[in-house]
Amino acid sequence: MTDAIDATDTPTPRRKPKPEKTTIGGRELKPSTLMMGHGYDPALSEGSLKAPIFLTSTFAFENAAAGKRHFEGITGKREGGAEGLVYSRFNGPNQEILEDRLAIWDGAEDALAFSSGMTAICILMLAYVSQGDVMVHSGPLYAASEGFVAKVLSKFGVTYVDFPAGASREEIEAVLEKAKDQAAKQGGKVAMIYLESPANPTNALVDIEAVNAARGAVLDATCPIAIDNTFLGPLWQRPLMHGADIVVYSLTKYVGGHSDLVAGGISGAKKWMDPVRALRNTMGGIVDPNTAWMLMRSLETVELRMERAGKNAEKVCVFLRDHPKVEGLGYLGFISDPSQQDIFDRHCTGAGSTFSLYIKGGEAESFRFLDNLTIAKLAVSLGGTETLASLPAAMTHLSVPDERKAALGITDNLVRVSIGIEDPDDLIADFDQALAQV
Ligand SMILES: *Cc1c(COP(=O)(O)O)cnc(C)c1O
Repeated sequence: MTDAIDATDTPTPRRKPKPEKTTIGGRELKPSTLMMGHGYDPALSEGSLKAPIFLTSTFAFENAAAGKRHFEGITGKREGGAEGLVYSRFNGPNQEILEDRLAIWDGAEDALAFSSGMTAICILMLAYVSQGDVMVHSGPLYAASEGFVAKVLSKFGVTYVDFPAGASREEIEAVLEKAKDQAAKQGGKVAMIYLESPANPTNALVDIEAVNAARGAVLDATCPIAIDNTFLGPLWQRPLMHGADIVVYSLTKYVGGHSDLVAGGISGAKKWMDPVRALRNTMGGIVDPNTAWMLMRSLETVELRMERAGKNAEKVCVFLRDHPKVEGLGYLGFISDPSQQDIFDRHCTGAGSTFSLYIKGGEAESFRFLDNLTIAKLAVSLGGTETLASLPAAMTHLSVPDERKAALGITDNLVRVSIGIEDPDDLIADFDQALAQV
């Protein structure tokens, strides 16, 4: 027993390796090195080389004063969040190690993991909007994100203004001015600028630097810029380096990478994460320990997998580009628009492995192509080890009104492909024989 009754005097038990070494002789260690052990000390878990999965709903306090101190952190009575583990709706060892490692990839101070990408997106937005506010977003967004803004936030008096991915700084500034006026009329503020780049399924890129400059000219820096980086992150685009404040992921895709889990994450400076953490503490939505553990395993190979998938996609696209049954390709490796190429050169270090393939013909020809693929599976989603193909107009975007489909270029012959890590020549052989059936 300890005499301490003043919560601030209680010693903090060791539960994380301290201090964390992220440099050797002044050399900053790379994320791919840190993924094997960062945030975990085997000595705290019987020497187990890999972190155990901590299946528990609650954590025993070392004494009553420590319990009080931990709750002060959880409830925000004391700055800096919880120092100790309290209850599994708030945090847990697997989740904390995962979050430490996710933050490394984006060069972020802090990260939060969620039970799905959409949970991350909804809790993020809810944490920042109040009645009368305006959301500004790029378009198109992932359909559920767009629906959450237009159909759910609107129930609470939040309106939105959008601009097309690819807009110039001047166009973005004009949209922010409009949003500011709209917010003033509604008695609110511009709550968030929410981006998604590249957009799905058009692959149009958003100029993050231009958005940041436009915010500087029109709004103040209390309005965060968040960006859904699912398609290129964490390897090929690091938005925090280009003026974004918060990076959002569906970890279900490249980060999970094996099509065997659903999860989401956000990362950024602690001051941007704190309101979201507080709302997650209230609502739940934290990733479960088993999924967090699977994601830790996935993060060890994320660079290997993404590099291989990216190289495969390039080879496949070189083959498809000149194929007589192919009308065109929406692949970031072959951009034709100079301003899009300029954004790509400033923001991206790779073209990714998800692209749009336009088959000569319409739905019937596209169906024939899809039905004849043998290696590639017919499924929505992306970023897994296996190659997937789908037809957005007939599947993910079926409910999008025809005019909007036309405006977004979502045609009946647009096949969405996510290339995996199979042998690239096998994939080419599969695409070749399926195209021959068209
Ligand atoms: C899949 C996806 C989401 C939603 O993520 P879930 O993990 O399915 O909830 C959000 N944004 C983008 C760009 C996605 O591809």
